[in-house]
Amino acid sequence: MLRSKEVCQILELVRAYSVPIRDDRVRGLITWYVKALQNAIDMIWDNIEWKYSFPELVRRGGKLITNMGLKMHVPIIPRDRAFKKRLRDELMKDNPYAAHWVDAVIRKAYSIIESWRKRYLKGRARKIKPRIRRRFAKCKITLMKIDYEAKTIRITLKQGEYLYVSWRSTWFEHRVRGWTVGEVIIKDDRVVIPFKGSEEIEVRRVIGWDSNELSLDGYEPSIGFIHVDLKPLQSMKIVYERKKAIAQSRGKEELYEKYVRRERNREKDFINKLSAGLRSLFPNTIHVFEDLDKEDLVSRKRVEKVKRKRNARTPWKRIHKRMSEVALTAYVDPRNTSRECPRCGYVVETQEGHVFECPRCGLKMSRHKVASINIRRRYMEEKRRRKRRARMRGFPQQ
Ligand SMILES: [Zn+2]
Repeated sequence: MLRSKEVCQILELVRAYSVPIRDDRVRGLITWYVKALQNAIDMIWDNIEWKYSFPELVRRGGKLITNMGLKMHVPIIPRDRAFKKRLRDELMKDNPYAAHWVDAVIRKAYSIIESWRKRYLKGRARKIKPRIRRRFAKCKITLMKIDYEAKTIRITLKQGEYLYVSWRSTWFEHRVRGWTVGEVIIKDDRVVIPFKGSEEIEVRRVIGWDSNELSLDGYEPSIGFIHVDLKPLQSMKIVYERKKAIAQSRGKEELYEKYVRRERNREKDFINKLSAGLRSLFPNTIHVFEDLDKEDLVSRKRVEKVKRKRNARTPWKRIHKRMSEVALTAYVDPRNTSRECPRCGYVVETQEGHVFECPRCGLKMSRHKVASINIRRRYMEEKRRRKRRARMRGFPQQ
């Protein structure tokens, strides 16, 4: 149990809402934006320098092995001032809109190339130039004038020519009272407005969550064990796997794409509902999960097989991301969470089956439960350590 003296934490919130828009000028703007964005991507792409890097030699069991998983080419994105000026000049040639729109295009182009580069270096993307397929225009804050009294955004198209968007008397008006507006995304029929706000949460509970392939298993001393069934998500995905396979074998690309989109939407819907449910069922709570990015780093060595399989099938990263948007979350080192005995601390070498058995103290328990206890405890220990360190540095005790 936590001490009765409650601790407050701030949860930063971002919510995007859309407002319908009917304006003939929007189509023109988006058409220009998408074309300019693709041009910018093309130009950056053509100026990428491909650095050759040698395969890595690693020692494994006394032998030297060439690690062929390593990329042989590392893309270096052009960022020098001369290139950026050339890029900007080129885009300005065919720009009927305010100059800030060109800067908005350039920034978006870099962010697309940068995220492709990250995925490429992780082996998740091929050496293929990103293509813009959707119609949108991402605004820059310098192009926006926000009137919080009137709840109106004025977007500059050209000098003296504006687009007005209002969120007054919308269904979400009360939800974003006092929040600030971020950079909007313009679509053909609507404007998506991201709102930023914050919420003060009194922390009274810490739940450790073990993320599994078919379930989410939690533990908190005052509640006990919590089991969330994720089989509906899994069966939905299996149905779409089958549909996609059939469409692909018949060469129906459009149908295949449709299934991909539908699956994505249904998954998103499931994740949103799951996160909202956990938030309302467990208020005043910090939800602790395993840090899956850390798991990626050690994966080449020894991530438990079960967990690797789990990560491939269940969108855990997306679930964790959504959870951190709606509730207080924390992440801990995932190593050995289901191999360590929560009673005596003994680390079991091999793991098989669903039941954990400690050879030292004889504890017998479901592996998911063991992991959830360990995840929670790891967070509490880390917090205690941090407090001690802060105290030693002479900061006032919280
Ligand atoms: Zn034990």
